[in-house]
Amino acid sequence: MTRLLEGLIEVMFPRACVACDAVLLQGKFFCEDCEPLLLTVGPVHCLRCAEPGRFVNGLCPRCAKKRPAFERAFAPFEHDGAIARAIHRFKYEDRPELAGPLGELLWLQSPDFLEHAPKHVCPIPLHDGRYRARRYDQATLLANELSLRSGRLVLADDLLVRRRATKRQVGLSDAQRIANVRGAFEARGGVTSVLLVDDVLTTGATAAEAARALHAAGVKVVEVLTLCRAKRLFMP
Ligand SMILES: [Zn+2]
Ligand SMILES: [Zn+2]
Repeated sequence: MTRLLEGLIEVMFPRACVACDAVLLQGKFFCEDCEPLLLTVGPVHCLRCAEPGRFVNGLCPRCAKKRPAFERAFAPFEHDGAIARAIHRFKYEDRPELAGPLGELLWLQSPDFLEHAPKHVCPIPLHDGRYRARRYDQATLLANELSLRSGRLVLADDLLVRRRATKRQVGLSDAQRIANVRGAFEARGGVTSVLLVDDVLTTGATAAEAARALHAAGVKVVEVLTLCRAKRLFMP
């Protein structure tokens, strides 16, 4: 696209803040009120789960004690402030078009992780009932944007399916979350490594169960990339 055409599109359809819809005069994603409310996960974090901080051998106490079912996870933001607001709008307020800027943001904020990440991108699937209610699947939209932007990643969204419906994880204890998703996924093999994509990593229970199913199908390496992560992550 030529610069002129890009400029015209900018004038006709100015970008809006993904968290509050304010028209953006500068920057690409957040307005000047929302931008300061972003909490980024810095470069110093656990090598496996991206828990912020400097740890012995690079592993946080939880990952050092018990290895998560996936090989590596990363999220550029903590689940708080403006990004939490943006994700809520994307997921629950019928704003599927936010997948564009949020997918671009995920790609721009994760260069180090993506450099060595698996090439096949697979969204963590919603079960059918929830898909019907919402009419779109936020993880697939994000995974699609990420593969388009990166030019290197391939969308392989048929690698993993929900075998049964699960309750929403919100409000469940850590142990209940693990039990709730146990056996929820069925995976297909045929690739050696998979990058799982979702909007939020909360306890890691769903991602770990998806990783188990992929490993059982013969996938050797499973990594996880989400836009944000809960501040204190529990790894089953
Ligand atoms: Zn804003
Ligand atoms: Zn960790």
